[in-house]
Amino acid sequence: MGTKRLYEIAFVGLKMGEHSFEYDLNTAFFTDKGAEGIEEIEANVKLTLEKNVGFMLLKFATGGKAAVNCDRCGNILKIDLWDEFNVVVKLTDNADEANEEEEDPDIFYIERNESHLDVSDWLYEFVMLSIPTQNVCGNDAAGHSLCNEEVLNKLKEMAANTEIVKENNIWKGLDKFKQN
Ligand SMILES: [Zn+2]
Repeated sequence: MGTKRLYEIAFVGLKMGEHSFEYDLNTAFFTDKGAEGIEEIEANVKLTLEKNVGFMLLKFATGGKAAVNCDRCGNILKIDLWDEFNVVVKLTDNADEANEEEEDPDIFYIERNESHLDVSDWLYEFVMLSIPTQNVCGNDAAGHSLCNEEVLNKLKEMAANTEIVKENNIWKGLDKFKQN
């Protein structure tokens, strides 16, 4: 089975009502789709599809773990993924036009004669949205930051050096001013 087919649901053959699907997604799935800044990811998404006449309700529950870098020191942080997303898929006669006009990002149109629904983009998007945009090491029991101090000191040193260079430039500027 091709990887594309793996994420296609042949909804036309499903009975009315709820159906459950589950997807295990590894790092390659995300990097293939262009994800950046992720060390490792093992995601699990449970999808509930409720089939109705003319439309389907999709509920995505994301889970699993990801390893990302601390924004301050670059330490690798393991984070738990946990979130829920809903999408309404409506069947219509002119899906492209309807999608262009639709302002609600949670409503998506497909052609009335479609038989398959590709959920791979939603799986990608929703897992990515489950990763916090800011990630920083926490504190230990005594309230001290768990950030890598060596790296933080190096960064401070570098910042201080930049300050010295800036100051030197200011003095040089003043010298010039005096000479005039
Ligand atoms: Zn850190």
